Parts: sequence; structure tokens; C-alpha cells
Amino acid sequence: MNVVIFGPPGAGKGTQAQNIVKKFNLHQVSTGELLRTEIKNKSELGKELEEIISKGDFATDDIVNKLIENIISDPQKKNKLIFDGYPRSLSQAKNLDLLLDSSGQKIDFIFFLNVNKDTIIKRIEKRKILEKRSDDNLNTILKRYDTYMETTRPVLDFYSKNSNFYEIDGSGKIEAISSKIEQIITL
Ligand code: AMP
Repeated sequence: MNVVIFGPPGAGKGTQAQNIVKKFNLHQVSTGELLRTEIKNKSELGKELEEIISKGDFATDDIVNKLIENIISDPQKKNKLIFDGYPRSLSQAKNLDLLLDSSGQKIDFIFFLNVNKDTIIKRIEKRKILEKRSDDNLNTILKRYDTYMETTRPVLDFYSKNSNFYEIDGSGKIEAISSKIEQIITL
């Protein structure tokens, strides 16, 4: 089974993905984490990415698509993928379909974690203290939210017509959201 967790920044995609990974023995594909690893490695690409991400802009499709292509084509991870933070644009959503299709896979579940802007701001302000991410400050949060509404939100229309699309209220308790997701997967 392959799963996509979709939603605005601060919706809890990473947290929910980690829970599903444990419960169903999947492999988490977080493009944000993959990009942060590049930054930590201080590669040329990492330096470029640091500037882009700390401003709240997106990495280019080319960079991100390459990162996930390697993972999707890995036979050991076949049908065991959970995507968190990808796709973030219509072109990435179409690319994901193509890549999965070319390796005989598909998306089985799409979960949209719906959270309002005020909750997002509160959550990210809290995360700033815990995780010390360079993109978790108020200006960048607002920029990331705008980028989400402009570029990522259209992916919702692309996915919401599918029978495997589920909208979940992402504003509740972590455990309650996880059990809703688990229920749907195991139905
Ligand atoms: P995240 O950890 O998912 O919140 O991502 C942190 C940042 O990494 C985002 O604000 C973007 O700058 C960048 N990023 C993560 N995933 C993508 C993606 N699929 N496409 C472009 N940029 C991304």
C-alpha cells in the first residue's frame, strides 16, 4: 500500500506519517527531511537549498522529483511508501502518478489533514522551540502558508475526486487523528 499525507504546513503530516510507518511498516518519504539532510551535509546543493527553504520558497521540481525518483524505483520499498510533503504542486502530483505507474504502483490512500491558519501559526510557533527549524519563524510561516494556498492547494482539486481521498480534521489530538487514519486503512 502507498499513502499520501497532504495538507498545509503545520497540519501534522510528519507526525501522522511517523505513526502510520510504525503501525503498517511503511517507508516514510518526507521531501522536507530529505532537503534538510542535504543542508546538513553542507553540499553545494545544500547551501542553495538553505537559502530557498529559510525564505519559505519551494525547492525546484527538478531537485525534488529526482530525490523521490530514487526511492520509488527501489524494489525493497515497493508498495510500502508514505509520502509526506510531496506532492506540493500539480506538476509534482502528475509526476508522482507517472513514477508510480512506471513501476507498477499506485496511490492507495490520500489523507488531507485540514487545519485552519490560526492553528497552523500556533503550532509552528511551538515547533520552533522544539525543533529549531530555520523556516519556523512568523514571517516564513506566513510566506509558506501563502505558497501553500497558491501552489499546493490546487492539488486538492486534483485528488479530491478520487475514491481513495479522505479529508480528516487535523485540528484535534494526535492520537485521535491517528486512529481515524488507521480505521480507514484497515476498513
Ligand atoms: P516540510 O518539512 O514538509 O514542512 O518542508 C520544509 C520546506 O522544504 C518547504 O517549506 C519547502 O521549502 C521545502 N520542500 C519540502 N517538500 C517540498 C516539495 N515537495 N517541493 C518543493 N519544496 C519542498
